[in-house]
Amino acid sequence: MTTIRLRNSKSRKVEEFHPIDPENVRMYVCGPTVYDRAHLGNARPVLVFDVLYRLLRHVYGEGHVTYVRNFTDVDDKINAEAQRRKGLGDSRSLEALIAERTEETISWYHADMDALGALRPDQEPRATAFIGQMIAMIGDLIAKGHAYEKEGHVLFRVRSYQNYGVLSGRSVDDMIAGARVEVAPFKEDPMDFVLWKPSDEDLPGWDSPWGRGRPGWHIECSAMSYELLGASFDIHGGGIDLQFPHHENEIAQSACAHPEAGFANYWVHNEMLQVEGKKMSKSLGNFFTVRDLLDQGVPGEVIRFVMLGTHYGKPMDWTERKREEANNTLRYWMDLTWELEPTNLGSFQPEQKLLDALGDDMNTHLALTYLRALHHQPQKLLDNARFLGFLSDRAREAERDFRNTFRGGFGSGPSVDLSALALKLDELRNVAKESKNFSAVDALKSSLIDAGVEVQMTKTGVELRPTPNFDPSKLEALK
Ligand code: AMP
Ligand code: ZN
Repeated sequence: MTTIRLRNSKSRKVEEFHPIDPENVRMYVCGPTVYDRAHLGNARPVLVFDVLYRLLRHVYGEGHVTYVRNFTDVDDKINAEAQRRKGLGDSRSLEALIAERTEETISWYHADMDALGALRPDQEPRATAFIGQMIAMIGDLIAKGHAYEKEGHVLFRVRSYQNYGVLSGRSVDDMIAGARVEVAPFKEDPMDFVLWKPSDEDLPGWDSPWGRGRPGWHIECSAMSYELLGASFDIHGGGIDLQFPHHENEIAQSACAHPEAGFANYWVHNEMLQVEGKKMSKSLGNFFTVRDLLDQGVPGEVIRFVMLGTHYGKPMDWTERKREEANNTLRYWMDLTWELEPTNLGSFQPEQKLLDALGDDMNTHLALTYLRALHHQPQKLLDNARFLGFLSDRAREAERDFRNTFRGGFGSGPSVDLSALALKLDELRNVAKESKNFSAVDALKSSLIDAGVEVQMTKTGVELRPTPNFDPSKLEALK
């Protein structure tokens, strides 16, 4: 049996994983706020916890793992977007505009994450479907003295929970000094955070004992995880940016509402995808979306490969070089395994070395190294790669379409011959090597890329391949 070890943020140690109930291993991961397309950083937790989910399903059995990832579909950013649309003259109700925005964003999210080969969680609860449970939990916290109502707001009384700050290893006073805590007249203490806030007519709201209003963000996850996984469960995941305050607040709420239970036993946090040393985020504006990359012709599995190339606990950058390497490896694997039939996941045993690497605090980098080493055993390569979400049916379908269209080998689609252009580029390069003037090479290369052709220049020659964005009409001028 494969042993799984995970770095638990709560103890700051790598610990052996023992589920509460091996018949039902339970994992909750904080999902996206659905007001806009997911950026590449948002894909990182999806892929990290997808690997963990696959490993847990292998070790405990497919039907013995419950993975829940929520959609935050009540949020001020969603409201702002709906109000903006209303301001532009849309005559529909605010509720209708909000529902349209969240539904559309959820369908994009599904399409984008499916393209990365991420399995869908077992449950994807929407916050708006659990408002009743949130109201009940808030009422319970008030009754137990951990929360109070003031001016239509309900606040969590942070000083009433002794262990506040344990997850992030800070004292309340340090946190007050370091965090941008909002001082408000309705707060007993600046650290207290909102469980419920009033909504005026222009905002979505639900009736509650404290008037019409809407929940704070943190209570969502406490209420949904309790409903779907119980008061104690195994793993709670999310990005490290959520550790404080979001996860600290989740713990405070859940531990105070259910003092007899332990809430989550293992806290697993992924580090950030960065751009030039800064977290990729919407608010900094330094982001691009998963869809941007897919639309540029970067296959979803290439994105997956790049992400899994770095341990989840380390910050990482997306670079052009990593993309190219991932692309070359996956292309090589696809060619090696193209003629083979994949073995059913149920009837093959992944390589123990691969499982051990994943069990060792999800060492995906090492797992990819082991996959690479299987190149002389293509059937094993295919089956093990598929276990990790590569060379999937979806990718093989895309490859089939591609071959039918461009290689003329299978179907009757048009075939393109790029060899003359490859030769031309190679010749220009040879001339440039003499003259030390590469401008003609660069010009042809960028025109090819612009036409949706992937250009690979190696020591031995030039290889050109059409990508899904290939536009043959743009090549006419180049011949
Ligand atoms: P949000 O919609 O911003 O709450 O983020 C959804 C998920 O993406 C959370 O688990 C975040 O921790 C994670 N996340 C956001 N930005 C990044 C990033 N730059 N790198 C890795 N994970 C991120
Ligand atoms: Zn959460």
